[in-house]
Amino acid sequence: MATRKLLLLPGDGIGPEAMAEVKKLIEMMNADFNAGFETEEGLVGGCAYDAHGQSISDADMDRAMAADAVLFGAVGGPKWDGVPYEVRPEAGLLRLRKEMELFANLRPAICYPALAASSSLKPEVVEGLDILILRELTGGVYFGEPKEITDLGNGQKRGIDTQIYDTYEIERIAGVAFELARTRSNRVCSMEKHNVMKSGVLWKEVVTNTHKAKYSDVELTHMLADAGGMQLVRWPKQFDVIVTDNLFGDMLSDVAAMLTGSLGMLPSASLGAPDEKTGSRKALYEPVHGSAPDIAGQGIANPIAMIASFAMCLRYSFNMVEEADRLEKAIASVLDDGLRTKDLMSDGMTEVGTTAMGDAIVARYKALA
Ligand code: NAD
Repeated sequence: MATRKLLLLPGDGIGPEAMAEVKKLIEMMNADFNAGFETEEGLVGGCAYDAHGQSISDADMDRAMAADAVLFGAVGGPKWDGVPYEVRPEAGLLRLRKEMELFANLRPAICYPALAASSSLKPEVVEGLDILILRELTGGVYFGEPKEITDLGNGQKRGIDTQIYDTYEIERIAGVAFELARTRSNRVCSMEKHNVMKSGVLWKEVVTNTHKAKYSDVELTHMLADAGGMQLVRWPKQFDVIVTDNLFGDMLSDVAAMLTGSLGMLPSASLGAPDEKTGSRKALYEPVHGSAPDIAGQGIANPIAMIASFAMCLRYSFNMVEEADRLEKAIASVLDDGLRTKDLMSDGMTEVGTTAMGDAIVARYKALA
């Protein structure tokens, strides 16, 4: 039996509450389906700072590098607002992304039929929505140098950020987009602003060349990122995979997120390059939401974003496609039955807490097997 090594980093606030529900799934899959998951647990964020003055220790960083996949909860909270900048809770997540070289951020926006009415858009616009936003995560304007505020000496200051993309960075994210599209509806829309940005001109050129060289079976379209934002809200179902840079991806994925109803529903994956020998990728899976200090400890957090992140882990790190499909079906099915955590609650539905929602999904997964 294959051993599948997972590092669990629950973090702060509702992170551990949501992770507890994934642990139940892992235990069930090991016991009933011989899945062979081996888990270790570490500290990240504020709890890591409390334990050893760092947002993630070198030892936990080593465990993350050695694991087949990392499952991450959430970090942060008012308790750590005053800690030094370099060791603030979020620094732990940034260190993981940087040292694991996680350049590809996958954010699916799926609208479960049972939740179509919770979106701010009309149900017919979002019902059955299943799109994937692929954001470049380690380059672009968030990292480019110079990045500074200079004093111009005349009472004025100048703030500078620099957008830089090299060919290889665009090629590798485009490659991930085309490969993902092949496992879905085989369509990629690349978004940039080549009308006003040189990096956009290069982005479009490299995506086009990568497509021509290796992926001409996939349908490729291009759209200006501002028009893309508009189209995402007008008729999101026209898209399959959207690939874009770090800055536009940050915004467009948040727009897409809100199409689906609640922050508590949104999973994400961050992937690195495939290892030359084994072909496996470093990977980290996390819900899009934060540590929600306003509801932490009350047992009411929605665990679905964390559980759906685990489904992405099954799909992308372990190629357990059938199991991932089944887990996503189990989520949809308990929602169809009317079970809702507080954030999703509406008239006529049954309100349940974090644990009851997790238990229902575990039971439904077994029933669907
Ligand atoms: P948040 O996502 O934690 O919460 C925003 C709102 O959504 C809150 O009202 C919260 O109760 C609700 N919410 C979020 N997830 C939910 C869930 N699973 N179930 C039910 N309701 C949910 O964002 P915030 O309030 O801006 O930030 C809180 C803390 O989290 C801050 O310290 C912030 O820095 C941190 N944060 C961490 C991450 C991360 O770990 N990746 C991401 C975003 C924010």
